Amino acid sequence: MSNRTMASLMRRAKVDPMDCYQCGKCAAGCPMANSMDLNSRQIMHCTQLGEAAYNKLISSEAIWLCTGCNVCHERCPHDVDIPSVIEQARYDAIEKGKIRRKSKIFNDIFLTNLKLTGKSQEAFLALIYNMVSLDIFQDMNSVPHMLRHKLVSVLPEFIKNPKEVSNTMEKSKEWGKAEK
Ligand code: SF4
Ligand code: SF4
Repeated sequence: MSNRTMASLMRRAKVDPMDCYQCGKCAAGCPMANSMDLNSRQIMHCTQLGEAAYNKLISSEAIWLCTGCNVCHERCPHDVDIPSVIEQARYDAIEKGKIRRKSKIFNDIFLTNLKLTGKSQEAFLALIYNMVSLDIFQDMNSVPHMLRHKLVSVLPEFIKNPKEVSNTMEKSKEWGKAEK
């Protein structure tokens, strides 16, 4: 049986929940806050509530919407590493089967693509995601703009040695399993 809990999540994240005094500076700067069901301040509030809010945190859509930009961490007057908390919450969500269907589809496509090419291929990611999630025309309005301004590449790009990326990903997965 899995022994993952809020206490173990915070240990792995190396964050003390009580370092957060709920000022909200992190959420005010987060580019994804308006789309999240829990913003960064609320995520930290969950961690302070402990086991009672563990399921709420790992079942949230927010942990999958976070882009990992680190703005919240940089803005925090107490140096609370929220992206680290979110990363560990993702591990737990996967292990406990709490990841939502669309988030899982996106996550699987993104990681497979990264393992194969060593880079994120936004155009392919969007195309395959739309097909698999049966939402074919999602974001289609922005395609001409992105192509015109070369914001995405039509042809896939590969780094020199994608195997190095996939090895690193495997190692981090092992680390996530070991650090329960
Ligand atoms: S900025 Fe830091 S102290 Fe303020 S709510 Fe966010 S995590 Fe907590
Ligand atoms: S790392 Fe995630 S939670 Fe923090 S500001 Fe960026 S998107 Fe928001």
